[in-house]
Formats: sequence, C-alpha cells, structure tokens
Amino acid sequence: MLKWLGSLVDSNEKELKHLEPIVAQINSHEPDFQRLSDAELRAKTDEFKARLKNGETLDDLLPEAFAAAREAARRTIGERHFDVQLMGGIVLHQGKIAEMKTGEGKTLVATLPLYLNALTGDGCHLVTVNDYLARRDAYWMGPIYHALGLTVASIYPQQSPAEHLPARLYDPDYADEKDTRWPHFRPVSRQQAYHADITYGTNNEFGFDYLRDNMALDLSQYVQRSLNYAIVDEVDNILIDEARTPLIISGAAEEATEKYYTFARLVPQLKRDEDYTIEEKERQVYLTELGMTKIERWLRRDGLLKAPSLYDPANYSLTQYLENALKANVLFKRDRDYMVKDGQVIIVDEFTGRLMFGRRYSEGLHQAIEAKERVKIQRESVTLATITFQNYFRLYQKLAGMTGTAATEAEEFHKIYKLEVVVIPTNKDMIRIDNPDQIYKDEDTKFKAVVREIETFHQQGTPLLIGTVSIEKSELLSDLLKRRGIPHQVLNAKNHEKEAAIIAQAGRIGAVTVATNMAGRGVDIILGGNPADSDRKEWQEEHDKVIELGGLHVVGTERHEARRIDNQLRGRSGRQGDPGSSRFYVSLEDDVVHRFGGDRVKGFMDWAGFDENTPIEHSMVSKAIENAQVRVEGYHFDIRKHLVDYDDVVNKHREVIYAERRKILEGADLKANIQSMIRDEIEKLVAASCSHDLMETDFTGLIEELATILPLPPQINPEALSRMKPGQITEKLIDYAEQLYEQREKEQDAENMRLLERLVMLRAIDSLWMEHLTAMDHLRQQAGLQAMRQIEPIVVYKKEGHALFESLIASIQHDVVHTIYKVSLTKKEAPAQRQPQKVAVPAGKKVGRNDPCPCGSGKKYKHCCGR
Ligand code: ADP
Ligand code: MG
Repeated sequence: MLKWLGSLVDSNEKELKHLEPIVAQINSHEPDFQRLSDAELRAKTDEFKARLKNGETLDDLLPEAFAAAREAARRTIGERHFDVQLMGGIVLHQGKIAEMKTGEGKTLVATLPLYLNALTGDGCHLVTVNDYLARRDAYWMGPIYHALGLTVASIYPQQSPAEHLPARLYDPDYADEKDTRWPHFRPVSRQQAYHADITYGTNNEFGFDYLRDNMALDLSQYVQRSLNYAIVDEVDNILIDEARTPLIISGAAEEATEKYYTFARLVPQLKRDEDYTIEEKERQVYLTELGMTKIERWLRRDGLLKAPSLYDPANYSLTQYLENALKANVLFKRDRDYMVKDGQVIIVDEFTGRLMFGRRYSEGLHQAIEAKERVKIQRESVTLATITFQNYFRLYQKLAGMTGTAATEAEEFHKIYKLEVVVIPTNKDMIRIDNPDQIYKDEDTKFKAVVREIETFHQQGTPLLIGTVSIEKSELLSDLLKRRGIPHQVLNAKNHEKEAAIIAQAGRIGAVTVATNMAGRGVDIILGGNPADSDRKEWQEEHDKVIELGGLHVVGTERHEARRIDNQLRGRSGRQGDPGSSRFYVSLEDDVVHRFGGDRVKGFMDWAGFDENTPIEHSMVSKAIENAQVRVEGYHFDIRKHLVDYDDVVNKHREVIYAERRKILEGADLKANIQSMIRDEIEKLVAASCSHDLMETDFTGLIEELATILPLPPQINPEALSRMKPGQITEKLIDYAEQLYEQREKEQDAENMRLLERLVMLRAIDSLWMEHLTAMDHLRQQAGLQAMRQIEPIVVYKKEGHALFESLIASIQHDVVHTIYKVSLTKKEAPAQRQPQKVAVPAGKKVGRNDPCPCGSGKKYKHCCGR
C-alpha cells in the first residue's frame, strides 16, 4: 500500500521512531493526571503558563500538557486519545502535516497541540472546510478546553439575516433553549471570538477577516489578533484544491456593457473545426482565419469595428469580449462547470463539485457566461483587497495540517508551504478490500455496470456509498437508480448541515448514498448508523449485521483528476478497523482518460480486442490511467505554482502597504513623516522647473504648481523668486510650508491635527492601493501577451510590477502633500473612531456633491466622504 511512497517510507519510519519516546513520556504522566481532581486538573493550565513565563519551552511542557488534555478528554467527552493520536498531535505541534486516515479521530487529535500552543496566550486557529464543521468541532471539543480553563469560539458566515453576530463562544453556563443542538453556544462578536484561546473557522472566514482588518480605519475595528498558530483540517482540500482561486473583496464598478450580449449572440453561429478549433488539453479555443473573417464581417455590420482588422490595437477590448464569449460558449458547460440558480451563474468547483457561491470567474469570463445564459449581467467589480490562500497561510508563525490524503501531494506542500508530511499509522489495522478497476469503452455501458453492482449489493442490504465527480453525474446516476426503483439519497455539498445528518446514516442497512466528493466530508460513517439516533440494543444488532455483510461498499464512478481524491472516497469505508470494500469504474470517455491518457489506454484496448460490453481489469490499463492522473496532478500543480509566482509579486507590495497602514493605526509619528514628504515634493517641484539658466525658468508655472499644494502669501511671487538662487527658493518655500503647518496645527489643536494626518494618509494609501491592485491585474494580462515575443511573462510582470509599485509610493506622497493643507475638522458629531471619514471636510469652503472629494480619493464627494 505504501509502495508509491518509495524512499519516503524510510524517512517516515525514522520520524515515527523519534515520536515513540515522547509518547512514552506522555503515558508515564497518565496515572498522576488521573488522580487529580477536576479543579486540580484545571489548575495545571495556570501552572504551565507560569512555567512558560519562567523560561520553559512548549517542547518542555508537551508531555505534561498532552497528558492533561488527554485526561480532560477522557473525563468530559469520554474519549481517551490513542497512542497514534498522540503521535499525530506531536507532529501537528512541530508544524508539519499529519496524514491520518479518515475516521482516525483527527478532531480529537487537534485538541492536544491546540491546548499546548494556546498556553502562550497568543491564540490558535483551527481551519475547517465548511462552516458547519467550524461549529460542530468547536462545540464537540468545547468541554475539553473548558475543563482546562481555556475558551474556544467558532466564527462562520451569516446563516440568516437575523444573525448579526456570526460567532459563538462555548460556554456551559449559557443555555439557549431554542437551540437543541448547540445550546451552550453564546453569541459573541468576531473580536471576542478571536480573543478566545482557540478559534475554529473556515479558510474563507479567516482570510476575509484578515483582508477586512487591513481595510479598517481604526485599530479598534480589527477583529484578528496575531496570526500565531493554525492547524488546517482536510489540509489538502484547503491548501491545494481551494488554493486555485484567491480570496477577493470587490466592489461594484461601472455598469456592464451590452457587448457581452452581442458576442453571446454571434459566437454560437460559428462552426466547430471550421471557424474555430479546440485544444482539449489546455482547454483553449482558437479562431481560424475563416472564423475571424466571419466575426469581422458581423462586427462591421453592427458598426462595432474600430479598425478593419480585429487584432488591431484599436479593437483590443473587442477581442477580450470575443475570447470570453468563445470560452463561455464552447468550453464551459452548464451543470458541469457552473450552474444557473435564481438568475445567477454559480461556479462549480471542478475538483470537488461544490458550488462556490459568491466567487466569480475573472477578467470578464463570468459576464460572458451570464450573457450566454441570458441572465442579468452582474456589474463588473473592482478589486478592493485580495490574497491567495497560499500567502494568507504563510503569514502564520507556525502552520500545521491534517488529512487522510497528503502523501501524494508531499512535494507541493513542501515547495509552497515548507510543510513536511508524516504518515501516522492507523490505530487498528485497515482491512478494507480495494478491488481492481473495471474499465469500459464508453460511459453508457459503464454506468449500466455501476447500476448492476449497486443492485447486487443493495439486495443483500450492504450499505453503499457511490462517489461521482460532478453534480451532473450524480443526477444522471440518480435517474438510473430511480428507474430501477432503488431508493437513495443524493448529496451535492450544498447544505452541509443537512448532508451531515444524511451521511451519518450512510452506514445503515440498505442505505444507498450518491455523493460528490466533498459532500459530507468530515462526518463519520459509522456502520449501523449514528448510535445517538437509535436505541442502543437495536443499533448494536444493526451494526453487527452490517459487519457481517462486509461493511460499507464504496463505488467510484470515475477516476478523479487527482489520485488523492479517489483515496479520500475509498477512505470513507474501513474506518477504525471496520470491514469494507471498494471498486472504481472507468470508461475511455471519462475526462481524465480522454484528456490525458486517451491514446495509450485506447491503443491498448484496441490491441487486446475488447468489445463494448466486456470490461477489462488489467494492471496495464490501470497503470496507464494512474499515469494520466499523475500527469494531471502535475499540470494542476503548475497552475497553482504559477498563481503563487504571480501573487508573490503583489504579496511583497501588500506586506509593505499593510505594514505602513498598521503603523499609522498604531499611532506612528506621521507629522515628521508628512513634513518630510512635503519637503521632498517641494524640492522635486523646484528642481523640475528651475533649469540651470535662471532666465528660462518658468516661475509663474512653479507658483501655480505650488498653489495646488498650499495657499501662498503675496510675498511669494514669480518676481520675488526670480531674484533667488534655486537653493534659496527651496529653503524659503520649505520654511514657509513648515510655518504654515505649525499655524494650522495651532488652529486645529494638536490632537485634531494628528487625526487629520492619519485620515489623509489612510485615504491616500487605501484608494491608491486599490488602483494599484487593478493596475497589477491589467499588467498581468498584458504580460501574458508578451509570451508571443519570447519573453517570460513573469519576468515582465515582476519588472513592470516593481515600476508600478514605485509609482504607487510616489502617488501616495503626492496625494498626501496635496491634501494635507486643504482639510480640516469641522465638528465632531460622531465618535471619531467609528466613521472618521465623514468628519473630514475642507476648510472654509463648502464642497459640492459632484466636486472631487477633498480627502484626495479622486472620487466625487457624494460617492466618498459625503455619502
Ligand atoms: P477524522 O476527522 O479523522 O476522519 P473524526 O474526528 O471525525 O475522524 O472521528 C471519527 C470518530 O472516531 C468519531 O466518531 C470520534 O468520536 C471517534 N474517536 C476519535 N478518537 C477516539 C478515541 N480516542 N476514542 C474513541 N473514539 C474516538
Ligand atoms: Mg475530520
């Protein structure tokens, strides 16, 4: 089973050997901890904290702290960590990935390192794949932390409009009578949730909170504390599958254009192979000469063509619409790549089949699909803040992860996150039987065979879990099962909570559950169903009967693009030493075979002369399919690596800007900073207008320029300046600027001046940073075009990106200097912290609603501070 790990096995063995003595140490403390009263056990936490202060390290404390957490778990939730779970806990504490099979109890494992690391008081995060698990796990493990005197909270997105505080703190003294499931969850603010010792939440919620914090105008609005230690559950899903789409906070931009609809009308009239060709592997469409001519003719007829040739730079925006329309119509399929619900196009994650609400394809593709589906085109958006998961999770001081399937992706974890993978042995031996793949020529016969297999097992009463790669395939199979009269449940990872309840019963006699691979992830499939839901004796009988029937049988209806996902599916069966079995069905029409392994597999099958209806079970074909998977994995890795390479460029910028912002909010001395900006700006202006020959200097122009910064007194005029040397001019102007600054400070009083400085700086940074993000986006698209000129796009992107960043810094200075003399505080009607942007209006002049906003944002007043 571990064969493919090759030489990794040896080093893994070594790692495990290192863990044994630590496990022995933890065990040696057990009797002592068992003797403690509840109060004494809780007091251990204070003792550990004190010892930390006195110089002991977390590693020193580990054996006792783990023993304490194990004892607390035994007393509260009645589960005592197995030795292999201790091993997993140590690995997590070391900042590595613990690969532990499904059902091995990773939820419980995490309590050990979370408890230990929370002793520092810096807060620890546990990252889950969905918000249902963020609540379930915090609540489930809550009693353990509580017994040890630590607090635990859960953050999650708003579930209903009535829910204003989507965060909960586990508190046994609180009881919500209406909530029968999680009565001891006390509603708290996000901030309070982050101030708990341990916080559970999804990757999206943690990431968005980080981005939102960095848009806040006051430190008191920050919800997160430092990013100290995170354990990522189902780490492969979060750090690999999800890592292909960055987190984006966006705002609406200008109205969508009619052109999307125009192209959505034109493109379907083109013919495949004649007007365009499809490159399957790269998922690209190319227009032929003929296709191009047709499009040009149609566009000319509609009066849209600005120059005769479509590829003339004047038509640049048109080609973008065209390319997107082609992709939308030819490559993107409804119910496979996306779904249309309530007039909205929702992306389906191609890896997990999950609906990605709120996410949009970028660069106009989403709008093109909306046009194709004739739904309302959502307004284009501008990026307000963005970060990739890769870069978000790299912000943590220490990062760890756990999952049933990490080893196949060890290289990526290492290269991108510097995370090492340690494979932890199972508590009991795994006895599941994995049958060889059955390979069919076409999809139809394959699905017929799948249905036959389901029927056979179902007749005996064996519970079945059938995995599909997409919602579309789930529905296809569901139809087939309905026709055969087989009752079943279909899960699409849409409603996590409901699906969790269904999957918890998937191990009952006669249960047939069809699920995309993310559906119900994190929920245990216990043979005989969830014991909590039925009478103990009845449950035991059913449990024993299912074991007799061979346990859960898993059927895969297609090989996934990544072997890891197949292993996940298989892993749902055979938990904790249960019996179980699995089989995958494959056809030559399946995506992964077709796109990546097609010819070789097919060639082999033709050679062997198999007919339509006879499946083959041959190691050579299985091997070829696996090779195809390895190739797809590599291909996707490259895409993600690419994303990171690009994001790394912006990431450097983000680090600088966020750090600057933070300094401002923390009360850095901005006066000195702004004054030096003013000096610099004046020096630049003077240097730019004073040429060596003073006779040629345009003093009037200089005065006009200066007046855009600050009001000048009559004695500073072209005539007066023309009698001075450039050095003197600069000195005189700077003197005057500083004097005026002091005078304004007196008028405003110092405290207000500090507030103004802060607001002006933040405004300038925030608005220009957003523009910068958009500019970087465009740059990235343009850099792509350079590939044709044999220049590596990333090289262009880095170089030009650097130039853009320098101009960003220059623009910030320019804006600050050009604003600071013009704003003042009028009256403090609102508490300044909450909405400070509303109190800044210019001195002595009323701003019209349509005037440029005095804060320097570049927007109209009514859209900005005057809102
Ligand atoms: P995983 O996340 O590894 O798939 P879970 O955390 O969902 O596994 O746990 C699977 C099941 O094992 C749960 O029902 C849990 O109660 C049970 N379990 C875990 N650890 C123990 C233990 N030490 N003793 C008894 N039951 C355990
Ligand atoms: Mg789990």
